[in-house]
Amino acid sequence: MVVLEVRDLRARYSASGPEILKGISFRVEADDFFAIIGPSGAGKSTLIRCINRLVEPSGGEILFFDREVTTLRGRQLRLLRRDIGMIFQEFNLIDRMSVMDNVLSGRLGYTSNLRSLFRIFPRDDIQHALGLLDRVGLLDHVDKRADELSGGQRQRVGIARALMQNPKLLLIDEPTSALDPKISREVMALIKQMATELKVPCLCNIHDVTLAMEFCNKIIGLQDGNKMFDGPTEEMDKAMLNKIYDMEVL
Ligand code: ADP
Repeated sequence: MVVLEVRDLRARYSASGPEILKGISFRVEADDFFAIIGPSGAGKSTLIRCINRLVEPSGGEILFFDREVTTLRGRQLRLLRRDIGMIFQEFNLIDRMSVMDNVLSGRLGYTSNLRSLFRIFPRDDIQHALGLLDRVGLLDHVDKRADELSGGQRQRVGIARALMQNPKLLLIDEPTSALDPKISREVMALIKQMATELKVPCLCNIHDVTLAMEFCNKIIGLQDGNKMFDGPTEEMDKAMLNKIYDMEVL
């Protein structure tokens, strides 16, 4: 089943500025874990952010379960964002809040304004959050403030928060670039494991090609806003990597 179809996607940050995405097309299917690789500035993060409209595309189509999302406004856009979880490079936690409250904030899209103002969450949500915190190995830390945790633990909170909204797609933007190599591999393994178990397709901007090759089944290679490669990980080879990164073939 096709979850996401992107057709001829274009983006620029200002009307007179350069085109950052120059007509990108690809499809994400239900069991895909896509890596988006390419040199710094290639447009990887912009591409991820167009999908949930944190960046407004300047052209093209984005079909999420066959529904065009580039024209959604107001409530419809909020509902789209509820269906798409996001994991961030810098974790985007609220430092002064507890681990539990950070994870529960993943449910805010489902909670009435009044309830969310007083942070009253249904018992089911609390059970769901505890279950996820157990799965990411943080059950002993639920009441700690987010800023008491290590980087790897903070990203685990970010993973639990994104999954708390029962997403139908996960966008993951440089999940490991603030982490050391050992923790990076653990975090990628955890995301992969949770996404597989919960059957959530993923689109992951990742600068580390080794991690991309290890954990992702498909790869999109971007260079200067153009798609250079789109296919199964096993079809990626050294010559293509050199082309994407614009290096001499070694
Ligand atoms: P990548 O994730 O591949 O490093 P980005 O999508 O972050 O690339 O950036 C692509 C290009 O868009 C870069 O030239 C960057 O400077 C530019 N860019 C990114 N964000 C903005 C912004 N908010 N305003 C203007 N230009 C931006």
